[in-house]
Amino acid sequence: MMGVVVVGSANMDVVARVPRIPGPGETLLARSFSRGGGGKGANQAVAAARAGGVETAFVGALGSDGDGQSLRESLTGSGVDMSVVAQSGEPTGTALISVADDGENAIVVVGGANADFTALDARQQQVIGAADVLLAQLEIDADVVLAAAQARREGAVFVLNAAPSQPLSEAMWAQLDVLVVNEHEAADLAVALGAPDRELDGAVDLLAGRVGSLVVTLGGEGSLVVEGGERTRVPAVPVTPVDTTGAGDTFVGVLGARLALGDSLVEAARWGSVAAALAVQRPGAQDGVPSAAEVRTAYTSGQN
Ligand code: ATP
Repeated sequence: MMGVVVVGSANMDVVARVPRIPGPGETLLARSFSRGGGGKGANQAVAAARAGGVETAFVGALGSDGDGQSLRESLTGSGVDMSVVAQSGEPTGTALISVADDGENAIVVVGGANADFTALDARQQQVIGAADVLLAQLEIDADVVLAAAQARREGAVFVLNAAPSQPLSEAMWAQLDVLVVNEHEAADLAVALGAPDRELDGAVDLLAGRVGSLVVTLGGEGSLVVEGGERTRVPAVPVTPVDTTGAGDTFVGVLGARLALGDSLVEAARWGSVAAALAVQRPGAQDGVPSAAEVRTAYTSGQN
């Protein structure tokens, strides 16, 4: 039995700090340079594994290159089972990120192995079939996500973090147990379903009518959990953010792990909120994900 199985993307984030975002044809000298693990799938797998107490496997694709090797090692080091990750002939997914002094950024994503991940093999299907919680996002082919949902066992919970924003097929809606979106994605999905405007309340009602459980994350405003017609606000922990990259992924990964441990959705969102608040106080995506001990300490102190 595998607690959480995450199906999704893995990237090497290559980050240059620059005085400003360069214009067309311009060359700039960077102030500094760093590399770190990224990609929504891999970020959420790291967050679920570091949440503690839940076996976590990643299903995705990496290139046969140094970045692929380095991501394989760092996820394994975080406790993620990487045994069924596909080896692609394409390069490992890469995000080329420029961050300017004023905080503005410009990002080029090279899909590479993530774009080449177009079908599940038998071993991947077997691992998915043993999951208690299946967690996916939309940085890989939506047909692979759908096939993964269809390969889960009866009673396993399918959590879809529908990001980046794109409309969902009817087949995907029919598989969903828990939908997690931020407010922009919520509005996009509502408009795709025929909402007259992007107003949040209406979007929440419309989406909650399509899915058993819904979580809308609201950045520093926390999140909204809707289940059985009941809305619960889960507050954010007030902190001073340093780098919000990966906040959403930490929230979703920890939420998935807590669901596998048997928490209610509201309780799982509270743990996600505490973990995400720690992540925004650190730079990097996977590098910013807190450990189980840190989250437990922060959670306990928040209860007192
Ligand atoms: P990302 O920027 O990583 O793509 P997202 O848009 O998917 O994130 P958000 O709604 O920004 O997701 O954040 C997810 C959760 O992280 C929030 O519900 C909240 O609990 C926590 N969070 C985000 N930003 C902050 C913040 N500034 N302070 C405290 N908690 C935060």
